[in-house]
Amino acid sequence: MNIFERRTKIIATLGPATESPEMLGKLIAEGTNIFRLNMAHATHDWVLSICKRIREASAKEGQEVAIMMDIKGPEIRTGAVDAPIHLQPGEIFDFTVRPGSGGGFTGDEEVSSVDVNYRDLVNDIKVGDTVLVDNGVIRLEVLEKNDSRIRCRVLTEGQLGSRRHINLPGIKVNLPPLTEKDQKDVLVGIEAGIDYYAQSFVREGDDIDLLRDFLSKNGDKAPIIAKIEDQQAIRNLRDIIRRCDGLMVARGDLGIECPYEELPIIQRRAVKTCLKYGKPVIIATHMLESMIDSPMPTRAEVTDVANAVYEQADCVMLSGETTVGKYPVDCVKVLKNIARRIERSGGANFAEDRPLEGDKDRLLRSAAVMADGLGGAGLVVFTRYGYLARILAAMRPRHAPIFAFTNQEKTLRDLILPWGIHPYLLNYSDDPEKMVAEAITLLKKEGQVKAGDKLVMVANVLAGEKRIETVQMRYVE
Ligand code: PEP
Repeated sequence: MNIFERRTKIIATLGPATESPEMLGKLIAEGTNIFRLNMAHATHDWVLSICKRIREASAKEGQEVAIMMDIKGPEIRTGAVDAPIHLQPGEIFDFTVRPGSGGGFTGDEEVSSVDVNYRDLVNDIKVGDTVLVDNGVIRLEVLEKNDSRIRCRVLTEGQLGSRRHINLPGIKVNLPPLTEKDQKDVLVGIEAGIDYYAQSFVREGDDIDLLRDFLSKNGDKAPIIAKIEDQQAIRNLRDIIRRCDGLMVARGDLGIECPYEELPIIQRRAVKTCLKYGKPVIIATHMLESMIDSPMPTRAEVTDVANAVYEQADCVMLSGETTVGKYPVDCVKVLKNIARRIERSGGANFAEDRPLEGDKDRLLRSAAVMADGLGGAGLVVFTRYGYLARILAAMRPRHAPIFAFTNQEKTLRDLILPWGIHPYLLNYSDDPEKMVAEAITLLKKEGQVKAGDKLVMVANVLAGEKRIETVQMRYVE
């Protein structure tokens, strides 16, 4: 058995560089586990056609992959400008929330301005706050405000184009967590058979419930990945993790909304808390940013990816590298190579502090300890809805791969995301021994095990009339 098979999963965001059937096939063959569709850019027609192409490519490669739709969430943006405005430090500049209304400040005529799509901005913001525009490139300080505009002083130089993203570090905004656009996108996602939804700018646990209710009203139970992107989410981290199905450390916006030196601390806290609650965690953004243009990663990027793998995050994610980059397939290869090497050298083992809740947890911990102790053994678990497999993965067995057998296609796809799980579809039978035999045959056929290998099984057995849960050690024959 190859006990050093990769455990960290790889997510690739799709875009113009990767949407063709050939590229999808190459990305799957290289090891991509999940494809992300970013609804900040995608159209509904594109979603429907790309999902079909992904399923076809997956069938052709004989490799299951999952699809994640990333919904945009609430966002503050500037309006259109006729030509880019060049802002200089010291210059006075206005953001107007009621287009066309009079300014009310002295010298309005000489001050240039841009509209903003969020009226309540004047209520949320106060004098002295910082406004960041275009991914934090342009920084302004609020000098005064009235009902219709906010007057600022420019702190850093920049070109202000049309519809630029605004960040307000540390400011609690009143935007709706699930916008009309998000709802329309999710309806298309349901039609396309999306496996997971990533929800942008989750600020508290209730935001997740809103999306969950919307999905459920429309007959879907897909897992929700909460993207943490601002200071409010960090304050509510524990509540968010308890209520989501997975977490994404969205370092792009997080790095603008929080002081950058806090990022590694936030990432580590997020990973540790997710492991504690048995929830998968994704580390996203700028993992291999230089590879958008270069065939080789920088040393710093290699170390950043290695750190995420060492922390034992469930997934690492590519964004621009695979949407518009010149080397998307190489990026997946680089992530795969780093993950394999670092996993072999050991991990942080934060999961050792995971509290055990209930007998099932204790049984699974025993199985993981036994498999690791046997040296070179794999773990086999039968799981209808994925719970047992997810908890086993959250225990981060040091050596043992986790082979999860389910009879539900939805569970199979759910289990593609968590660390270390190899999910398989199996017809369940009333005879537990028959299921065990079929599972081992499948593993042999897939080249995962060979005669003489050891497997630790978490399985039901018939004891007279009763079914009992067991942990067993078996040799592959
Ligand atoms: C991020 O901000 O890091 C992120 C993943 O979100 P998006 O790509 O939607 O900005």
